[in-house]
Amino acid sequence: MFEVTAEEKDARTGKLHTQHGVVETPCFMPVATKGTVKTLTSDELDEIGTQAVITNALHLYLNPGVDVLSHIGIHRFMDWDKTVFTDSGGFQLIRDFNLKITNKGLMFKMDKTNHFFTPELCIEAQNQIGSDVAMVLDDCPNYGSSYETVANSLKRTIEWAGRCKNAHKKSEQLIFGIVQGGVFPDLRKTCVEKLLEIGFDGYAVGGLTIGEPKEELLRILKCTVPLTPKNKPKYMMGLGSPEDILESISLGIDIFDSAFPTRNARHRTAITRHGNFEITKKKYINDFSPVDESCGCRTCKKYSKAYIHHLFKEKELLGMRLLSIHNLYFILNMMKNARKAIRNNGFDEYKKDFMEKYNRHE
Ligand SMILES: [Zn+2]
Repeated sequence: MFEVTAEEKDARTGKLHTQHGVVETPCFMPVATKGTVKTLTSDELDEIGTQAVITNALHLYLNPGVDVLSHIGIHRFMDWDKTVFTDSGGFQLIRDFNLKITNKGLMFKMDKTNHFFTPELCIEAQNQIGSDVAMVLDDCPNYGSSYETVANSLKRTIEWAGRCKNAHKKSEQLIFGIVQGGVFPDLRKTCVEKLLEIGFDGYAVGGLTIGEPKEELLRILKCTVPLTPKNKPKYMMGLGSPEDILESISLGIDIFDSAFPTRNARHRTAITRHGNFEITKKKYINDFSPVDESCGCRTCKKYSKAYIHHLFKEKELLGMRLLSIHNLYFILNMMKNARKAIRNNGFDEYKKDFMEKYNRHE
């Protein structure tokens, strides 16, 4: 299922085998919450080097519904024949919906209908959606919650993880556990121990990137990641900026997902090797150079900053598309270079060199 192929200190490359092929790690997954990476087609995702996408079980369960998806499966539905992860949706529920959490599950109201989303239902939905990797349903307390609140929530997360594993009947679909425990190392440790007793195909770190300072995030990653088994994939959920990804790779993380590159693109920000910039700035009106001269993406090969600046000024959708292609390509290419660097035992140097250029923003 997963093999480590090269190591440099804690950083590693590996291969995650799913029923839709091999994902080379460290890898970055574009976010396709509702079955689409916003503005891009599957062919475009493929062309820029995407290996896997992550959709959201809860969103798909609500619309178009598992009745639709169980007939055709998510791969054919969105014309994507590579790996698909499904996030369980717990995180989105807590943030996007007005809900009530009980030990049995999550209750919320939508379009005048009451929903009761249990760990069992969450796994059943992911089975029917037909993703390659399912995530357990977890309870993610807000940043700043007290020790007692996080400890109580953790009991539920652990119980739900066991219920998810029991409900998971599809042997060809992998299932990952999610480590919660807020910013408290002892709770993180307890969570890992309990998840290991249940046994999963991979271990994700959840409950971070929810407003905590960066030092806090790194502190928790540093004490959590080494506790998870070396021979299993380690997934950091929701982390997407180049500096955070590279830092986490050096801590041993294999898999990432984030809306960072695509959301930034839709909000006019280009991610480049010399840092990020807003394409709508006045100085780009006459700039006929590409977004990033060293970039090999279709956008940079064919279009200028001036053109994309114009598209954004005119609110033309093509601007968002072109910048999404570039930003995603940039991150995916960075991952490719990181894998190569680890294989050549040069990741530390690669990271240092990347960060020096990236921080040298115009
Ligand atoms: Zn580009």
